[in-house]
Amino acid sequence: MTDRPATVAVQSLHKSYGDFKAVEDLSFSVFPGEIFGLLGPNGAGKTTTLEMIEGLRRPDGGQILVAGIDAQNQPRAVREIIGVQLQQTSLYNNIRVEEALRLFGGYYRTQKPVEELLDLVSLQDKRHSFHKNLSGGQQQRLALALALVNDPLIIFLDEPTTGLDPQARRNLWDIILKMRSADKSIILTTHYMEEAERLCDRIAIMDHGRVIAQGSPKELIGQLKVDSCIEFLSEGNADPEQLQKLPGVSRVTVIHQRVEIFSEAPQTTLTALLALSNTAGFAIGDLHIRRATLEDLFIELTGRSLRE
Ligand code: ATP
Repeated sequence: MTDRPATVAVQSLHKSYGDFKAVEDLSFSVFPGEIFGLLGPNGAGKTTTLEMIEGLRRPDGGQILVAGIDAQNQPRAVREIIGVQLQQTSLYNNIRVEEALRLFGGYYRTQKPVEELLDLVSLQDKRHSFHKNLSGGQQQRLALALALVNDPLIIFLDEPTTGLDPQARRNLWDIILKMRSADKSIILTTHYMEEAERLCDRIAIMDHGRVIAQGSPKELIGQLKVDSCIEFLSEGNADPEQLQKLPGVSRVTVIHQRVEIFSEAPQTTLTALLALSNTAGFAIGDLHIRRATLEDLFIELTGRSLRE
């Protein structure tokens, strides 16, 4: 993947709104056939970053090359080769599916055939339906098809599956993965950890306008050094300090009654935990062991949850 030139190369990007630094010293590259995720809490600067690359906002400093084209000097040339998924609210309700695809296609020199687009997002049966009569998942798939009307090299998806049920989300993931197979570069923002882990080849985790970690999901989770978390509901008082002293434990969090113990030796920790619960007088409910996630890494790096 990385032996080919980057389709998007962002170098030392800065953007402030007044005194507020929304994006600070941001650098990353995205390659053909790669899904790159920008992950971060509300206000981290993800949308601002996308909009600067798309040529919709002017950076205060830094360089953006899109397929080798300087996005600040030649925003029109960039717009010809990128596709941007619009939020559904910006679509007219009284437009039919096929009509919308033809209308949007008309803005570009290169146009992908409407039949191919309908086929890709499985909306052949809905070609004559009004946008307002589509389900949430169908509307999102149409929004995706509209981002592809010019057969772009690079596709920007800003929280593409927000509000969708699991089935509709999976359908959309399949389409995104098909686009990757077609050698497109995809940059997406998401709040969903599972989505980022499942889809993204590489991820930049953003917080307060800065990248605080970057790598493949596996590399990022590897930074935690432990990959197991023992979770349970404590009935009675489980003392975090005592839990921290159990063998193999690297970190303990207790929120209300939900306890999370990160361990490099889960079996040993678990045995000691059960013994402790007897002597310290707390009961253990809803016990399970899970793999560490990107969410855990975010908490370790920032002390906050991605969803706060
Ligand atoms: P979300 O996940 O909520 O969409 P985000 O990571 O995409 O968040 P941005 O929308 O890029 O974050 O916003 C970054 C910060 O910049 C936020 O604190 C936001 O309030 C601020 N901001 C964004 N646009 C403007 C603007 N036009 N004027 C002033 N402040 C802005």
